[in-house]
Amino acid sequence: MAGREDRVQTQLAGIPVSGVSIAGHETWFHFPTLGLAFDLGRAPTELVPVSHVFLTHAHLDHAAGLAYWCSQRRLARLGGGIAWTDPSTVDTWRTILGLHARLEGVEYDAAVEPMAPGETMVLRKDLEVTAFRVAHRVPALGFVASERRHRLKPSWRGRGADEIREATARREEVSESWTRPLVAFCGDTSADVFRIAPPEVFRAKVLLLECSFVEDEHKDRANGWGHIHLSELADHSDLFENEVVVLTHLTLRTGPAEIRRLVNKRLPPGLAARTVPFLP
Ligand SMILES: [Zn+2]
Ligand SMILES: [Zn+2]
Repeated sequence: MAGREDRVQTQLAGIPVSGVSIAGHETWFHFPTLGLAFDLGRAPTELVPVSHVFLTHAHLDHAAGLAYWCSQRRLARLGGGIAWTDPSTVDTWRTILGLHARLEGVEYDAAVEPMAPGETMVLRKDLEVTAFRVAHRVPALGFVASERRHRLKPSWRGRGADEIREATARREEVSESWTRPLVAFCGDTSADVFRIAPPEVFRAKVLLLECSFVEDEHKDRANGWGHIHLSELADHSDLFENEVVVLTHLTLRTGPAEIRRLVNKRLPPGLAARTVPFLP
């Protein structure tokens, strides 16, 4: 039987993902086809070669593996590697990594870099990641990974290939870029995220949304620790245009069968049918 702390490997709206996400224990997600990770958890071996890491906040269930990731990348002779995270935490992280490097008597090539809410990093010609602010007990970010495509400007659609080729040769701008949000990750956040997150978050194909608690008697616990309770998801069910809503950061206090039962009981059927608890 699969244990709750086992790695989950699956596809969400056709996008491969693996990871672990349990409240207070460990959270990381690896999207191999996007070449990125959201959070590092305790830095499993699988994440060592991933050079783009987006770190939501400094709680150790999400970030304990940062120095280990840097150190393992050095051992494997992997150049570069950036963990993007909240600007207000970067100096402290650099101090910590500097101390580890000194203790190990080495220098790390991988680094922590600031990413402000609203800032976008272009990872590939066809992929970018944008950060947004969420509401937690420490400074925290969420991220949206979007596909970048080019298409003909409306004024050029329906015209012949020769005409378009000639215009391109004249260096006329015939195409425009557009983005489609693929995966949004809210990290750890209170239900304020429903008010402050940008609209792309709720339009992304896949939304990874923390839902730490599901039982009625855990509502105070959710609110006290800056987390979301299942009833708050139900209250905002009109918001979600996502193909799949993935419940992450679920507590160990409630068993998988009970989590699934409550999701189906508490969420409206239209949302429950698209909701997947991230469980082994
Ligand atoms: Zn957490
Ligand atoms: Zn946290």
